[in-house]
Order: sequence, then C-alpha cells, then structure tokens
Amino acid sequence: MTDLAARLSDVDERIAAAARAVGRDPEELTRVVVTKFHPAALVRELHALGVRDVGENRQQELTAKSEECADLAELRWHFVGQAQTKKARAIRRAAAAVHSVDRERLADALEAAGDGAPVLDVLMQINLTDDAGRGGVAPAGIEPLAEHILGLPSLRLRGVMAVAPLDESPAAAFERLAGYAERVRRLAPDATWMSAGMTADFAEAIAAGATHLRIGTAITGTRPDRA
Ligand SMILES: *Cc1c(COP(=O)(O)O)cnc(C)c1O
Repeated sequence: MTDLAARLSDVDERIAAAARAVGRDPEELTRVVVTKFHPAALVRELHALGVRDVGENRQQELTAKSEECADLAELRWHFVGQAQTKKARAIRRAAAAVHSVDRERLADALEAAGDGAPVLDVLMQINLTDDAGRGGVAPAGIEPLAEHILGLPSLRLRGVMAVAPLDESPAAAFERLAGYAERVRRLAPDATWMSAGMTADFAEAIAAGATHLRIGTAITGTRPDRA
C-alpha cells in the first residue's frame, strides 16, 4: 500500500468511527479531499483509490487541474475558497459545487455564468467569527441571502458551509452552524448539506451533523510550498 492509500484508509476509518460514536451512518457522509497546492498527478492517484470528490480553494488551480484530469470518470470538483466575482465563469465551468457563496453579487455572477450549463449546487458560507474579513455571510444575513439564491433558477441551494474559528472550540462553533443550517432549511427544505470539518476538527463536525467533510493534509500529506 502506498503512503497515500494508507492515509486515505486511516482517515476513512476515523470518519466511520466518529460517525458511529454519535449514532450516525458513515454512508451519509461525503469526504471531499482538498488537493490544493498538490499537482494533478495526486488527483489521479486519489481517483485510482476510489476518490470521486475533490476540492480546491483557488480558481486558477481549480481550472488547471480539472482540465488536466478531464478524462477521469465521475470526478466532482468542489470549490471551497473565497471567490472573486470576475472568476465566477471559470469556477462554474469547472466545479460541480461551490461551497463558498457568501454574497448576492457572487450568486448573481454564478447565475449569469450559467449559459445553459447544468444546475450548480451551491452552499452558503457562514462566518462563525466576528471578523468580517474571514469570509462568509454574517448570521444576520442568512435569510436574505438564502431568499436571493432561491430566486436564481440555475443555482440549487444545498445548505451551509463554514470554517471553525481559531479562538473557539470547534464543537461549540459547529453547534452554532447546525442552528444556521436549520434556519436555511426553513426556507429551503432540501438544503440538507452541512459542509464542515477539516483535518483538525472533522470528528466535532460529524457530531454536530456535518454531511460534507473537507479534508486536506490528513490525506494528502503536508502541502508543498505555495508558489
Ligand atoms: C485547505 C482547506 C481545507 C482542508 O484543510 P486541512 O486542514 O488540510 O484538512 C478545508 N476547507 C477549506 C476551505 C480549505 O481552504
């Protein structure tokens, strides 16, 4: 077994154990492998190991790697980073899901980039901190943004996403996120995704109800220096 295969199966065992510990079925969880800063060759190796959901946080890397991996069957790209409006077209072309919609202008730009493309799954990124620079809509803005996205025909609102704050226990932060997810479901009953949990905190996210885990380094190993 390669190191990559060993790390992947170790993480999957830890995910399954964390799910069972709180009475959840591991089958209901989607593990997105975040491959940022790693070459497309790593995505190919992951695909050969059965990985179908991969994530990127920068548009240029998403575009380049998705093109290099265009021949890989059933591979789904998740965009998880802060998105500039002017990059919406390129993101939409490559991604099956965008986890980081946090403002109306970005939702509008993704909608305008549709051009008859298949419906795009989107999540609302919620800011769990008081620092507006961290990305994500503030909790007070959840309902207006959800209503706005629901009015855009080529976007499908699937749920919420967040990154745990650095200065708070992830368990408490993800409990708050679960409450925000419920507020979104009151407006959009089928918005059932909760994207939360990274290498350091996926067990806490699973306990709080996460459905999509975004895991990088625990699977890929240490990221190469960013260019
Ligand atoms: C990099 C990244 C991850 C994965 O982080 P790890 O700590 O390496 O697991 C998850 N979500 C987002 C938004 C990221 O940018």
